Amino acid sequence: MGRAVFVNGDFVPEEEARVSVFDRGFLFADGVYEVVSVLEGRLVDFPGHMARLRRSLGELGIAPPMEEPEFLAMHRELVARNALEEGLVYLQVTRGAADRDFIFPPAETPRTVVAFTQAGPLVDKPAGREGLRIITVPDIRWGRRDIKTVQLLAPSLCKMAAKRVGKDDAWMVEDGVVTEGTSNNAYIVAGDTIITRDLSNSILHGITRAAVLRLAREAQMRLEERPFTVEEAKAADEAFVTSASSFVTPVVEIDGLLIGEGVPGPVAARLREIYVADARKSAI
Ligand code: PMP
Repeated sequence: MGRAVFVNGDFVPEEEARVSVFDRGFLFADGVYEVVSVLEGRLVDFPGHMARLRRSLGELGIAPPMEEPEFLAMHRELVARNALEEGLVYLQVTRGAADRDFIFPPAETPRTVVAFTQAGPLVDKPAGREGLRIITVPDIRWGRRDIKTVQLLAPSLCKMAAKRVGKDDAWMVEDGVVTEGTSNNAYIVAGDTIITRDLSNSILHGITRAAVLRLAREAQMRLEERPFTVEEAKAADEAFVTSASSFVTPVVEIDGLLIGEGVPGPVAARLREIYVADARKSAI
């Protein structure tokens, strides 16, 4: 039997997990999601992910389907039922199933809530040790990237463009400056300064970003939150990305140009170490 999956209040075998063809997540990408990493069977940065979920739902006018303690209990139950030691919990909430209409269904329409686990190493990953080779591509997404919606076709196309030319990922560029990676926040290091784009509707407000910036400040590292150009990135001493599933992962090549020595740099390596240590300590 496969994994236990959470669907609208029940834990069911994955083979039996179903949602309606009328679900607005399916028809309109009318839904939001979160990905929480799991280390040693515990949830990393959980309150941050729940705060962002609440915000994403609020921005779309979707009533929260449950309270945070229920979400926590459900996540823990899913981790326990699947004996998950290291990996991810994916959670998706949509506006629910209704006749296809651009107009929202009544607010009392039950939201669809689905969650499942994906097991796999997060700390001991080749990309964490060796770094990523990326390309830059135009950012073709919509204007509300701060809402974590399930409309992921644009970043999926961008990542496929990278895969087609034998690279690992893409950074998206708008008006000459980097917005973010296809599924991560983007950083460069110039001299002793870490530079990452400031928060706005143009990027997702990464939960890992918030933790890494806090830890960098605590370690007295110099930070600048501002947009940076592709030219700055190519001339940088280091580059890296952050996300719940990749923690801090070095970038060693951009558009065929080596960054620094073309190997993971000391700042990214140190931040990865600090972040993983903090995540292990604070996971719940
Ligand atoms: N930006 C984008 C576009 C993403 O998809 C993600 C990961 N979902 C992130 C940034 C990183 O966010 P987090 O650290 O919360 O995983």
